[in-house]
Amino acid sequence: MRTGNIDSTSTNADTPADPVIAAVRLHDVHRVHGKGDNQVAALRGVSIGLRRGTFTAIMGPSGSGKSTFLQCAAGLDTPTSGTVEIDGLDLSGMSETELTKLRRDRVGFVFQAFNLLPALTVEENIALPYRLAGRRADRARIAEMIDRVGLAERRNHLPSELSGGQQQRVAIARALVTAPAVIFADEPTGALDTQTTLEVLQLLRESVRTGQTIVMVTHDPVAASYADVVLFLGDGAFVAELRHPTAEKIVECVTHLGTRETRRRATGVAH
Ligand code: ADP
Repeated sequence: MRTGNIDSTSTNADTPADPVIAAVRLHDVHRVHGKGDNQVAALRGVSIGLRRGTFTAIMGPSGSGKSTFLQCAAGLDTPTSGTVEIDGLDLSGMSETELTKLRRDRVGFVFQAFNLLPALTVEENIALPYRLAGRRADRARIAEMIDRVGLAERRNHLPSELSGGQQQRVAIARALVTAPAVIFADEPTGALDTQTTLEVLQLLRESVRTGQTIVMVTHDPVAASYADVVLFLGDGAFVAELRHPTAEKIVECVTHLGTRETRRRATGVAH
């Protein structure tokens, strides 16, 4: 376990063709929610660079800033100060229309609750990113994605006719179909049973092997163990990172950080 500033681009070389462009980069991001006496500093100076084709898990106790981090990194929320770049594009100063376009073209999302459109078939749900972008659907690519997530037989089914795991696989295919610069996954296995969870994680892992970048918030040490690196948030800052994680090492790290936090709260001193 390593603690301190996190910049995975400084320890992992970028591809030679693209030495400087990370999929996602945050520099000294602060996010204060609320006003006056009710202010809460949800992020306190977060800096990070995430190399393309990597799988990063974000963990941390409730209230540590995971959702705020995800929202800021995905261009859904604006930091109070600091900068966010996606695919080399600086989000500061972008209009709402520009941000919407950037998210549509370069970001994919996978949520715990699947968020499929109930009236559309599997195939239509997966084709949605093309429709939203006003682009002609790439039929071959859609068929490839349906195959990859193992739903060829179900292509004309509605979400209500599928199991939870199958619905999440549709959501993953929909996120992957346009090969976005980054996919943000928020507790993607939170609503799934153990076996289905493993299938979904293998699917995410496999997409990273073929070059996709994924950032996943999770509470589950097994889910996080599928990532290349686990970053731990505590009180609005990254407090540790774990490379080549195993579920056991993650549990150990969570326990250690929890103990440290309890001690800090009791004594007011960081150890
Ligand atoms: P996590 O996802 O790790 O639970 P959050 O990012 O949701 O953490 O929250 C971080 C801190 O910011 C918490 O103290 C939370 O209460 C506060 N917070 C989050 N969103 C808001 C908001 N819209 N208004 C006020 N406080 C907020």
